[in-house]
Amino acid sequence: MLYNLTDIFSSEGKVENLTTTYEPKVVVMQSEEFPICERGGLSLTLTNRAKGEVHLQGEISLVCEIPCGRCLKPVKVPLELKLEENLRENMIGTPEAADEMSYVTGYELDTDALVGNEIMINWPMKVLCRDDCKGICTVCGKNLNEEECGCDTFVPDPRMAVLKDIFNA
Ligand SMILES: [Zn+2]
Ligand SMILES: [Zn+2]
Repeated sequence: MLYNLTDIFSSEGKVENLTTTYEPKVVVMQSEEFPICERGGLSLTLTNRAKGEVHLQGEISLVCEIPCGRCLKPVKVPLELKLEENLRENMIGTPEAADEMSYVTGYELDTDALVGNEIMINWPMKVLCRDDCKGICTVCGKNLNEEECGCDTFVPDPRMAVLKDIFNA
């Protein structure tokens, strides 16, 4: 949703409550796509604190599907996002705004960009399907949580392997 900030910036003491939805179907992180499988509504409160100063507060909960870091099984990861920003009219169009208010273009607040920004900040570093996930067998590719494959996963010391080659030559 695009929300025009002109009015709230100029109306001292004004409070505006908005409810909208976050539209994107996927989260794109480092050119990988992660589906958003559940989404709550986005509620925002904009409060004019002084002329040209608006405080923004809001929250949204989403559930993203992220593959387990060891076995790649999709894991449903809830993201509870709390938004809090200070919007300053005098920053609009300045280079600092590109960093700090990247979700504001001209006087338009882009709520999808705002939430997208918050998702990036809160993205989990490491996702596991369970704490003791055994991962995938490096030999046969089986998910070791489901089945023991019995492969010999012993990795010989590479220096020994070189010696072995010499003796076999
Ligand atoms: Zn796993
Ligand atoms: Zn195996």
